[in-house]
Amino acid sequence: MALIVQKYGGSSVGSTDRIKSVSQRIHRTAKAENQVVVVVSAIGKTTDGLVKLANEVSSNPNRREMDMLLSTGEQVSISLLSMALQEIGQPAISLTGAQVGIVTEAQYSKARILEIKTDRINKQLQQGQVVVVAGFQGITDSEDLEITTLGRGGSDTSAVALAVAIGADCCEIYTDVPGILTTDPRIVPSAKLMEEITADEMLELASLGAKVLHPRAVEIARNFGMPLVVKSSWTEDLGTKIISPPVQDKSMVGLELSKAVNAVELDADQAKVALLRVPDRPGVAARLFGEIARQNVDVDLIIQSIHEGNSNDIAFTVSKAVLPKAESVATAIAPTLNQADATDILVEKNIAKIAIAGAGMIGRPGIAAKMFSSLAEAGVNIQMISTSEIKVSCIVEQDQCEKAIAALCKTFEIASSNLSLKQNPSNDSVLVPVRGVALDKNQAQIAILYIPDVPGMAAKIFTILAQESISVDMIIQSQRCRIVDGIPMRDIAFTVAQGDAQQAQTVLEQLQSEIKFKQVIVDSNIAKVSIVGSGMIGSPGVASKFFKALGEENINIYMITTSEIKISCVVAEDQAVKALKVVHEAFALGGDTTIEVPSKE
Ligand code: ASP
Ligand code: MG
Repeated sequence: MALIVQKYGGSSVGSTDRIKSVSQRIHRTAKAENQVVVVVSAIGKTTDGLVKLANEVSSNPNRREMDMLLSTGEQVSISLLSMALQEIGQPAISLTGAQVGIVTEAQYSKARILEIKTDRINKQLQQGQVVVVAGFQGITDSEDLEITTLGRGGSDTSAVALAVAIGADCCEIYTDVPGILTTDPRIVPSAKLMEEITADEMLELASLGAKVLHPRAVEIARNFGMPLVVKSSWTEDLGTKIISPPVQDKSMVGLELSKAVNAVELDADQAKVALLRVPDRPGVAARLFGEIARQNVDVDLIIQSIHEGNSNDIAFTVSKAVLPKAESVATAIAPTLNQADATDILVEKNIAKIAIAGAGMIGRPGIAAKMFSSLAEAGVNIQMISTSEIKVSCIVEQDQCEKAIAALCKTFEIASSNLSLKQNPSNDSVLVPVRGVALDKNQAQIAILYIPDVPGMAAKIFTILAQESISVDMIIQSQRCRIVDGIPMRDIAFTVAQGDAQQAQTVLEQLQSEIKFKQVIVDSNIAKVSIVGSGMIGSPGVASKFFKALGEENINIYMITTSEIKISCVVAEDQAVKALKVVHEAFALGGDTTIEVPSKE
């Protein structure tokens, strides 16, 4: 006998016929000697409809009343599903979040789950009932027992949190797609279903997978080692397993981490090679990293920021031991890239990489800013910055890394015993170099040119953006450093959602009198293409294959940023679809069957 949590999304309970067919599946599971807890979303597009109603009576609906309203959607689906179960002879009972005791913080519309009481659920299970719980909603711990919601798409999070709280054997998320696909099948028809993916990869693929699975749900599954699977409610197919690393400490205090950052990482075994003024044309990164891969040199971070004139700087890091080899490859290849012979090579052995990581930083402005401010206060200068969905990495001088780490541990309340020294792939059998490819077309690129190279500048810039609630995605501070009137200057580039670009430019220009940078440039006609895979750690050649696929199609790379398990390139928007296709093809990710998915609304 197993204890199973099943979650059905809005489309899976989209009509009374669908509710009946879902009840058959639940009944089968229960009959096979399992205890079943079911979490459901509101029927179909009910929640959207409720939001629309609110907007018809108020231009700025009160958030408390909004949660009161939105939580009703799930009350409809739980009761109907229970009735459908009872109708086919399956004992069942529906419970609201409050009746279960899904306790959240007192934050309307985006509450995090603090605790889930298990008495009531256990009592009903013992009576042989299937317990149907309303997803997406909770209740505060205060005397007032306020109703809260977890944020749109939050019933996935309810389901995984419940599974953890009651000690379920697994959590199954039923949806209207067959699982997690290698890329968007609406663009690449050969996109294939993944049998499995690690939780970290899933989080890095947020722009691809967040529609299918709420990142907060993935985070809880990872933190508590809850077996999680996403599959179609229409078929009997196996779906995609989300694999979590083994966990030791399963203490249930604070079910959802309220912390955005859950690790500070240090890798002191890094050295940097930078090529200054390589030509800005397609194929250059491919040739450089192709040669590096041929020499079997494993690169870690790769950073290329916006071009200046018609040249770029590309910097990368390797472990200290292979620096001489990396340097000689770079020296040999540089003259062949540049007819004008203007490329300079810079190497630096005394650097370290420090990083903050955590799924909670997705969609929360201000985390990077907090990191930069903390480093600035500690007097640490940041040489390079590279970001991914769940990580911000900085290259600093090695002498400064101790105080940098101390400052970050303090700022983000990470016990220094929790410091991770290096990310090591955990379970080799499940790791592949590239699991999936994501495309994000909704981004604009912003470059700030000639920022004085002193501690605190990045902090100022990203703090002011966070104050405006502008979420910054890719942040890149590259190698390029120019001396103007005796002052060293660097550029910082980043991407934001297109809708935020104008406002970002305006607030940054207000900062100009204080920081005295030269210029802010905005380009909305860009897109981000990313590859993600835990197996790329320690396998040379992944980056070069990516760049080569782009180069062969004459697609110019504007910027590059990486984390251990992700490489992202910014390219021109009108080349993005082509880029996605060729990269997916280059890594042989496709299958020969076409997977149907509902069209995006
Ligand atoms: N019904 C809620 C929403 O549409 C929660 C969910 O579907 O996960 O956001
Ligand atoms: Mg959903």
